[in-house]
Amino acid sequence: MGKLTISSRNAIMQESPIRKLAPLAVKAKSQGVHVYHLNIGQPDIKTPQIMIDAYHNIPPVIEYGPSEGLHSYRKKLVSYYKKVNIPVDESNIFITTGGSEAIIFTLLSALSPGDEVIIPEPFYTNYNGFAVMAGVNVVPITTKIENGFDLPPMKDFKAKLTPRTKAIVICNPGNPTGAVFSRERLQELVNFARKNNLYVISDEVYREFTYEGTATSILEFEDFEDNAVMIDSTSKRYSACGSRIGCIVTKNKELLKLILKFGQARLCPPSVDQVAAEAAIDTPDSYFKAVKKEYQKRRDVAYTELCRIPGAVVPNPKGAFYMVVGLPVKDADDFAKWLLSDFRYKNETTMVAPASGFYATEGLGKNQIRIAYVLKTEDLKKAIHILKLGLTEYKKK
Ligand SMILES: *Cc1c(COP(=O)(O)O)cnc(C)c1O
Repeated sequence: MGKLTISSRNAIMQESPIRKLAPLAVKAKSQGVHVYHLNIGQPDIKTPQIMIDAYHNIPPVIEYGPSEGLHSYRKKLVSYYKKVNIPVDESNIFITTGGSEAIIFTLLSALSPGDEVIIPEPFYTNYNGFAVMAGVNVVPITTKIENGFDLPPMKDFKAKLTPRTKAIVICNPGNPTGAVFSRERLQELVNFARKNNLYVISDEVYREFTYEGTATSILEFEDFEDNAVMIDSTSKRYSACGSRIGCIVTKNKELLKLILKFGQARLCPPSVDQVAAEAAIDTPDSYFKAVKKEYQKRRDVAYTELCRIPGAVVPNPKGAFYMVVGLPVKDADDFAKWLLSDFRYKNETTMVAPASGFYATEGLGKNQIRIAYVLKTEDLKKAIHILKLGLTEYKKK
């Protein structure tokens, strides 16, 4: 009779770097200190009214739906994709419980346990958790702050290839970097992946939040149908993170068959939320125009204010609502903690996410932070001003 244990996965499952500092923020607040949250991507933008209204039409029985999602919703999604130049039909679309489940199902279906997936770092940290769940190994490839975290040259990818490499995950527009990859760079990646029989799993949940040019979908490339898997979600598009709807879009029929088997095991995605997501597709363009304008304004304010910090390295993000900033400190983790526990300006302080947690390579990103510009500009200015004052004070220590 041994001892009761928990899974060995505990050793490889990372704690969220975004939430890690939360207890310190709670403590600061309990002392009556106001905390500006630049650490977390919860937008304050209103969900479209048309989506909210749909939640008032709940049927008398909330039934199970099809495992692949409601037919009417998938059909309607085709019209949305057509509008954003992504040519697909409903048989290519599999509805999931958020983009999160879409990534998990894709990894479970495209890779076998022990296979490898290459991911440019810094990356959305939950990819680590999804990889643990699927039993696959993340192989990071480092992108550089100096060139705005653009995709590395293909020779860098080539250097990471092993017989177990099966896929590359990209996030475009990027969380946490704000990078948007050019069509040319993506074409190089597509050629490389085709040649080496790799999937490219492209997380495009920030498509609508592109401030320079337009984000190119992985589904736009010709002769790449079987390799391309696109991940999508309603969370950010409609500022509806709690409405748990996402999808996998791919033309790879074999892959979709296995995805369906995993889908059947969890029965179906949420029915009521799908009805709301279907209604949300009729959100007027004016909504997106206004939201994009607001984020662009915030980005510009964040960029300008951060550039005023002596010694800061500030790439101008092209999309999403995050940026990774280099600071003149040795240990941004310690600085972020110190801001919460020790620094006050007019009884206020700022919370940021240390960027080290977004890297898989040990020791990288130690002097970087991630900022989510999800506050209104007035607060954003104050928050970054506090960051600047704090930095001066911190460096005196
Ligand atoms: C928010 C987010 C997701 C998924 O979110 P869901 O709420 O599960 O749809 C996926 N990828 C990135 C990069 C994100 O920021």
